[in-house]
Amino acid sequence: MKENIIRRLEKLTEGWGGKFLRDEWERVYRNEWKPPIDGMDEAPFTNYNLAAHFRRKIIAFDPKKIQWPHLIHEMGHVFASKSGPHSAACNEYDFYGWEHAVAKHVRGRMSEWYHHNSDYVVGGESVGIGNMEVGALNRGQRTRIFRDRVEVAIRRGLIKREGKRLIPLAIR
Ligand SMILES: [Zn+2]
Repeated sequence: MKENIIRRLEKLTEGWGGKFLRDEWERVYRNEWKPPIDGMDEAPFTNYNLAAHFRRKIIAFDPKKIQWPHLIHEMGHVFASKSGPHSAACNEYDFYGWEHAVAKHVRGRMSEWYHHNSDYVVGGESVGIGNMEVGALNRGQRTRIFRDRVEVAIRRGLIKREGKRLIPLAIR
């Protein structure tokens, strides 16, 4: 994974009172914190290579196996949602615009971000697009979806506008 992007994401995470665990992956996570021990929530479909500790604001991952866009998603669970990943109150789609803003903020390549989000299902009546995978959207649909998601994130206090820039915030 791109080391410079990880470092920027780590800086954001630390600024928000959180912590990345990567070098200690094998020792700390795989051996000691394997879910459900100690409140670690594992991201689905990642083979124990990515997990978050909601209460302690820790993101643990194997940098050799995890792509930076997925790391941003896990950060969203910790910083852009008031309820943990497995809570019924958690609606990931509410912070999808935040993920988009974080990707831009750390100067990730957006083509890469879209690529690693290609099977994420989006849609909604407000934008007139039924449930579709990001990878199947045309340019116009993609613009509509992300404009909508960014507006939702701004309303929820997850992003603030500074001139032309969108600054991602933490809400907990
Ligand atoms: Zn999730």
